[in-house]
Amino acid sequence: MDSLKNRTLLKVIVLGDSGVGKTSLMNQYVYKKFNKQYKATIGADFVTKELHIDEKSVTLQIWDTAGQERFQSLGSAFYRGADCCVLVYDVNNLKSFETLNNWHTEFLKQANPMEPDTFPFVLIGNKTDVDGGNSRVVSNKRAIEWCGSKGNILYHETSAKEDTNVDEAFLGVAHIALANE
Ligand code: GDP
Ligand code: MG
Repeated sequence: MDSLKNRTLLKVIVLGDSGVGKTSLMNQYVYKKFNKQYKATIGADFVTKELHIDEKSVTLQIWDTAGQERFQSLGSAFYRGADCCVLVYDVNNLKSFETLNNWHTEFLKQANPMEPDTFPFVLIGNKTDVDGGNSRVVSNKRAIEWCGSKGNILYHETSAKEDTNVDEAFLGVAHIALANE
C-alpha cells in the first residue's frame, strides 16, 4: 500500500576507471548476471532497482557510463540531481585507486551539490576474487584511510563475478542516499 509520499526516486551515479567493473556490478545487482566478455558500451543510460526501506518504496536509478569514461567528460545531464555517487576501483589495479581523487573532484565540480562536504559518496573496491586475493595491491586499510581523508565515505569490497557483497554495497548506497534526501 504505497502512498505517493512514500515513494522515493534516488539517482545514483557510478564512476571509476574503465575496466574496474562498474557495469558488471550493476548487472550483478539488478539482473543477477555476470558476463565475462568485456563490453565497453551498454545500451541504457541507467538501470533501476526497487527496494523497500523503512516502509518506503525506493527506486534506485543507477547511472552507468557507456564507455565514455575513457574518452570525454560525461556532460552535466549525467550528473544533474544525483543523490549519491558510487566510486569504483579494482583492488588489483593501483592506477584505478590513484585516479579516485580525480573522479571525486570531477563529480563535485560537475554535480555541484549544495553541500559538497557532506554529499554522500560510497567507495567500492571490486574484483576481490582475482587470484584468490593474491594479486591485490590496495589494502583494505589504505582504502579506508582514503575514505577518511575525503570526509566520511562508506567503503565496501565486492566481487561482481562471485556476487560477494554486491547487495550489501548497494543497500548501503540506498541508505546513505535516503538519509541525505
Ligand atoms: P567497467 O568498464 O568499469 O564497466 O567494467 P566492466 O564491468 O565492463 O568489467 C571489465 C572486465 O572486468 C570484464 O571483463 C568483467 O568481466 C571483469 N570483471 C568485472 N567485475 C569483476 C570481478 O568482480 N571479478 C573478476 N574476476 N572480474 C571482473
Ligand atoms: Mg562499463
